[in-house]
Amino acid sequence: MNIKDHIIFNTISIFVLKNFKILKFSIIEWNILLITSIIFSFFPDIDHPISSIGNKLKFISTFINKFFGHRKITHSILFLIIIYFLSKYILYKNNFYLNKSIHYGIILGCINHMLADMLTKHGICLLWPIKFKFKFNKFFLFIIIILIFLLYTYNLHQ
Ligand SMILES: [Zn+2]
Repeated sequence: MNIKDHIIFNTISIFVLKNFKILKFSIIEWNILLITSIIFSFFPDIDHPISSIGNKLKFISTFINKFFGHRKITHSILFLIIIYFLSKYILYKNNFYLNKSIHYGIILGCINHMLADMLTKHGICLLWPIKFKFKFNKFFLFIIIILIFLLYTYNLHQ
């Protein structure tokens, strides 16, 4: 999946999340969350030297690619846990302005990247180091879209 697809998927996903009113953020906080999530929606591809981010950080991407491979460690739940605690530590330690929305943006951007990659035929190793590849089939995707639509309609009447 290319960078444009990841940005589109991420933006739609954040708008769906915003409309469900699960997270309580102000307009400024939502905008910061959206921008951060877009930036981090291609971060997991740091494991691929030819990807847009991997190309800019060739030393790191070549190292990760050589030792772990593409769509393995940086596309796993383990990676999400590491990023969650690492970014939380950095943001809260330095007490950055709007650090909660930046933190959510980082995590949601990475999650959206992984979900989008699961729509491709290659899938991802979500439970890395277990080698099983996770991918959505079209029927499952159809059910998810129907559920989102129903929940959204239900939400409008609340
Ligand atoms: Zn990827």
